[in-house]
Amino acid sequence: MIRQSHVYLESKKRRELIDITKEINSLIAGEKGPGLLNIYVPHTTAGLIINENESGLKDDIVNLFEKLAPKNGDYKHNLVDSNADAHLLSIFLKNNASIPFSDGKMMLGTWQSVFLAELDGPRQRQIIITIIS
Ligand code: ZN
Repeated sequence: MIRQSHVYLESKKRRELIDITKEINSLIAGEKGPGLLNIYVPHTTAGLIINENESGLKDDIVNLFEKLAPKNGDYKHNLVDSNADAHLLSIFLKNNASIPFSDGKMMLGTWQSVFLAELDGPRQRQIIITIIS
């Protein structure tokens, strides 16, 4: 069976990592058997990161964003919009991930969490979850 859900969330900062692991696990909590889910981010200034939820590391990642694409860089896209840095950073991130699940939980490694990486917040974001079980 295939079903689909949306997760909506509000980011609070211009750049931040938002842990969405619990929200996604809640969508498969009743699933006993093995399955596969796909997480899709339909945005051009946000992306997915799977990594450790440790506050220092999250700061390091946001600091890396600034080194890779400084907010006030000289960008052509900023002639029509003001978020070129966010578009540029998003090309280095994933816009989707497929994750196996079993016993109502994603089969993540011990230190893995799933994050929405907000690159041009604050704003409302949506994530599309397709569940195959
Ligand atoms: Zn733009």
